[in-house]
Amino acid sequence: DSVANQIAAGEVIQRPASVLKELVENSIDAGATFIQILIKDAGRTLIQVVDNGKGMSETDARMAFERHATSKIKNADDLFSLRTMGFRGEALASIAAVAQVELRTRRAEDELGVLVEIAGTRVFKQESVQCDLGTSFQVKNLFFNVPARRRFLKSDNVEKSHILTEFYRIALVNTSVAFSFFDGDEEIFQLPASNNKIRIENIFGKSAKKRWQQQLLSIETSTNLVSIFGYVGKPEYAQKSATQYFFVNGRYMRHPYFHKAVLLAYNQMIQASESPNYFIYFDVDPQTIDVNIHPTKTEIKFENEQAIWSILTAAVKEALGKFNVIPSI
Ligand code: ADP
Ligand code: MG
Repeated sequence: DSVANQIAAGEVIQRPASVLKELVENSIDAGATFIQILIKDAGRTLIQVVDNGKGMSETDARMAFERHATSKIKNADDLFSLRTMGFRGEALASIAAVAQVELRTRRAEDELGVLVEIAGTRVFKQESVQCDLGTSFQVKNLFFNVPARRRFLKSDNVEKSHILTEFYRIALVNTSVAFSFFDGDEEIFQLPASNNKIRIENIFGKSAKKRWQQQLLSIETSTNLVSIFGYVGKPEYAQKSATQYFFVNGRYMRHPYFHKAVLLAYNQMIQASESPNYFIYFDVDPQTIDVNIHPTKTEIKFENEQAIWSILTAAVKEALGKFNVIPSI
């Protein structure tokens, strides 16, 4: 059974970045407005996520590690009106199967919180403790019991860049949540609650060579199928490896087809080898998308894909001032 758990865990938890993603998404689902992240050794020895969300009762804290224990879906219909990030109830069970986990959590209505220590799915400790409101997870020594997985991990730099990738995907869309992020003793991000524009600048402003993030053009359009909001880069800032993000209903998504719709709008304004920066946020009726096609949930199927493609291309063209340009023959 512990082997079965380890195998199942492998699907969800592939590297430290997967742990970070799952913990931070849970904090967001719990309504946190401030999330503190600390990693050590690229997440190999420690990934800690502390939130000020609603916390868990003693029973919930113990139950949280059971496979398919999710408090977020009550029936099949809920799957289609999904507004939370998690919904499979697999993440914590998977993490606990392959790491040493300490959970401290307290709800507003409880005087004492609860501490749970679990490793390789075995519960070592469960007791009442004094703790802050909200939830704190420490995930130590990832894959301590799965040497093959541990060996599969890449260099610290590579693992850290995977962690940052996941962090950006969450922080760029949950802009009303404040984040602090420490890598060992080094503070790498201190992001106040803000809006999308400022969040983009706060994240990319430091490292970007060109000041593209201060020169973004707004896009905004709304129809009965979709609302699209966001920022696209000026054509002159197009580059070989551009910064490109799509989000739908508050979650990051990959969408090669919509990517082509954006490129089409830039047609003739940029070189074929270059690509524009963009941050595009879609809002649709949750019943018209399917987020359930892949365990890592970044590929999303839209019911009205073709119509949205046209709306998107038109919106980007408008931002580029190309709306009324007669195509050259
Ligand atoms: P899912 O997010 O798919 O429901 P998880 O395994 O990630 O499944 O989490 C299991 C359950 O643990 C959640 O449904 C939630 O009830 C609880 N939980 C996890 N993290 C937190 C948190 N930071 N704050 C409050 N509750 C949490
Ligand atoms: Mg979850």
